[in-house]
Amino acid sequence: MGSASRKTFLPLDPMSFTNESRAVIDFIADYYKNIEEYPVLSRVEPGYLSATLPESAPYCPESLEDILKDVHDCIVPGLTHWQSPNFFGYFHANASTAGFLGEMLCSGFNVVGFSWISSPAATELESLVMDWMGKLLKLPSSFLFSGTGGGVLHGSTCEAAVCTLAAARDKALKELGGWENITKLVVYASDQTHFTFQKAAKLVGIPPSNFRLIETSFSTGFSMSPEKVRFAIEDDIKSGLVPLFLCATIGTTPSGAVDPIAELGKVAREYKLWLHIDAAYAGSACICPELRHYLDGIELANSISMNPHKWFLTNMDCCCLWIKEPKILVDSLSTDPEILRNNASKFKGVVDYKDWQVALSRRFRALKLWIVIRRHGLANLIYHIRSDISMAKRFEAFVAMDERFEIVVPRKFALVCFRLKPKQEAEGTELNCKLLDAINSGGRAFMTHAVVGGIYVIRCSIGTTLTEEHHVDALWNLIQENAQILLSESIN
Ligand SMILES: *Cc1c(COP(=O)(O)O)cnc(C)c1O
Repeated sequence: MGSASRKTFLPLDPMSFTNESRAVIDFIADYYKNIEEYPVLSRVEPGYLSATLPESAPYCPESLEDILKDVHDCIVPGLTHWQSPNFFGYFHANASTAGFLGEMLCSGFNVVGFSWISSPAATELESLVMDWMGKLLKLPSSFLFSGTGGGVLHGSTCEAAVCTLAAARDKALKELGGWENITKLVVYASDQTHFTFQKAAKLVGIPPSNFRLIETSFSTGFSMSPEKVRFAIEDDIKSGLVPLFLCATIGTTPSGAVDPIAELGKVAREYKLWLHIDAAYAGSACICPELRHYLDGIELANSISMNPHKWFLTNMDCCCLWIKEPKILVDSLSTDPEILRNNASKFKGVVDYKDWQVALSRRFRALKLWIVIRRHGLANLIYHIRSDISMAKRFEAFVAMDERFEIVVPRKFALVCFRLKPKQEAEGTELNCKLLDAINSGGRAFMTHAVVGGIYVIRCSIGTTLTEEHHVDALWNLIQENAQILLSESIN
């Protein structure tokens, strides 16, 4: 035998792997240590990066040192620092050490669990952790594998929406007897529902004119009125249309409003609509016994989704979707190509997650959520939610005590919608827009806005993992300082 020549190019060399990975971990640790020094909202101008980095890819390999230097010099300035304790925008994307460790393992194994046999642990851990999470939320057993349902991890609520809508659509079309009936199907949501459901409805072929936005108002705290849903459904039935799907939200994106699940569930049952609960943001909070009541009536829903990557210390990306009758989802999304056929799939109860999602390939996300739950335990996860809510209450009290300001929508979770009171209502938007711009451009904190009931509000969303009370206090001082400047300008 001739001596086999060893490869000299080793893209995955266990020796250098350790050193290079450590260098990156040290880099990230430094980033977190210094995170408060960066302006929260990035200050770069569009196109900034092409002015600094080469236009073409290198021919020869470059050192990690050089690359990390570029990350430091060119990438970090173009980041909006979502993990900064002074980030109060959108809904936060909680990160944690446990979430990061889970991501490392997921990426380290780099397995692709599309069918059970392609990585049995990936599938079975996902089913297990979906039941764990479901039990933390006290979901009825009809949503759990240990009962009659099941769950899957997606990357986003948008994917979960597309898949549940496709399942509901196919079930209805089968009953109606043909694809031509798709033009009759109607989807109901409120004007506060996340726009992702409109996108999903379009993607599954629901005519945009069959997407009903039920109007909400101050009088109901922006929650969806079951009566209005009923009227809309009756109207559509009279016009020969077929009500298909109702999306209710726990914790709407603009203001954190909650739709009445139990009452909407009754309407959905009566007219045989698929009821989906979007709990992307506030679902995490329902692990707290005092907040679980927002899920009352969940037994009337067909599916529910929530994002651990928002408020459950789970690094991007992770969306839980539970479904009562997984068979409907699988019937809608399954494919059976020859190259993936295997004996294991024929076993009763074997899950092939490729049939529960849009893509074929999938990440081992379950590791991450499993480690997050194990490393914190329910006790600390509840503590985490409660401490964010208590900081939000503190901020809300600051706003309420200053008569120049007002709370616009009553707070339910850790989102406070407030504004500077205008002298004339017509000036409200401009005044608060200016206030928000002044705060955000200063770099010391970042918030975003919404328009609810025609009113421009500033959203202060509390819940970045590193945020502590003194950050909230500093934010309030900053808001007051900027308001003072604005108000004195408007007098002159
Ligand atoms: C953030 C959010 C979504 C969208 O979630 P993605 O995972 O980014 O698709 C949907 N619904 C609500 C209520 C949200 O807050």
